[in-house]
Amino acid sequence: MVMPIEHNPAFRGYFNEDTGSVLHALCDFFPAQMVVVSVEESNNFIIEAINSSQQTALHSKQIGVGEYFVDMFPASLKEEVIENSARCIAEGAPVRFELSGNYINGVSQLSSYPVILIPITKHQGITTHLLCVVPSSGFDSGTQPILYSEQEVERRVKERTDELVAINHRLSYLATHDWLTDVYNRRHLLEMATIEFNRVGRYDLSLGLLMLDIDHFKSINDEQGHMAGDQALQTVAQAIRSAVRECDLVGRYGGDEFIILAPETDIQGVRSIAERLRSTLKSVNLSISVGITMRERHDHSIDDVINRADHLLLNAKRNGRNRIESVSLVSIP
Ligand code: GH3
Ligand code: MG
Repeated sequence: MVMPIEHNPAFRGYFNEDTGSVLHALCDFFPAQMVVVSVEESNNFIIEAINSSQQTALHSKQIGVGEYFVDMFPASLKEEVIENSARCIAEGAPVRFELSGNYINGVSQLSSYPVILIPITKHQGITTHLLCVVPSSGFDSGTQPILYSEQEVERRVKERTDELVAINHRLSYLATHDWLTDVYNRRHLLEMATIEFNRVGRYDLSLGLLMLDIDHFKSINDEQGHMAGDQALQTVAQAIRSAVRECDLVGRYGGDEFIILAPETDIQGVRSIAERLRSTLKSVNLSISVGITMRERHDHSIDDVINRADHLLLNAKRNGRNRIESVSLVSIP
């Protein structure tokens, strides 16, 4: 059944005949609540036309021409409607927002529906009216707002909570891991390394540190392209993960530089990690230079250990690359 559009007689005057009939057709057949509101002054919006066929319960009260626009909405949502109307007028552009909340006197309900405000602008760009559209899918097509059982509310809250936990988990992973290689990023590696440095210091345990850098990595990028370079970085990271224990810390320290921290491991154990790595990577035509060192009693912070490994790595590069340099061992060619 086609219901007539209820309107203030003056309203038709705002449109020519064609526009008026298009608007009427829209109002009659469009499955949405549509309201034209005149903008008298800020916060004073009067309903000029409303399609009564779709006039469903945004609120318990039915509302009509000449009444305040905000009275269409429950008291708790009025401020949000006013704010968005003001924004629509100020920007002279459509605004879409979601309204949600309890809206029948104190009865707990979950409901959320979209509201679209479109400015109708006349002379000199002044917004004289707003067209407000509330899609019918946004609220129950009957006269009652959506009512959820307690179990449904609980289910939805749990669903949302689980989603948030998963998002949080993902965000925390992204904040602590290198986007390309999935090992720790530099910041997180240093945080974890500091914790580990302090822990082993407290119990006077050993702590080994390896710093490695791919040899002639630039030439992979230059000769085979950046994708091949990225792939090589991933291969190295994967090889490192396979060469260390679960409790060892692995991070990307810089471009093609990685650090491995091996707590409670002696120098022989640390060296064997470096050798395993070197031989695995040799089989895929990658060569690395490595500096290995141990925490020493006079070290004040993890930076002292890292700096020592860095110097050794530099020595490995100077001494011809594809080699391991260590403080406590003779150079291993
Ligand atoms: P060396 O043997 O002395 O280490 O020489 P090298 O060519 O490996 O030189 P260096 O270690 O200084 O090169 C680092 C290069 O790594 C420079 C930079 O273009 C490249 N790089 C840094 N980050 C990335 C990345 O995420 N992807 C790729 N493909 N290249 C990167
Ligand atoms: Mg390099």
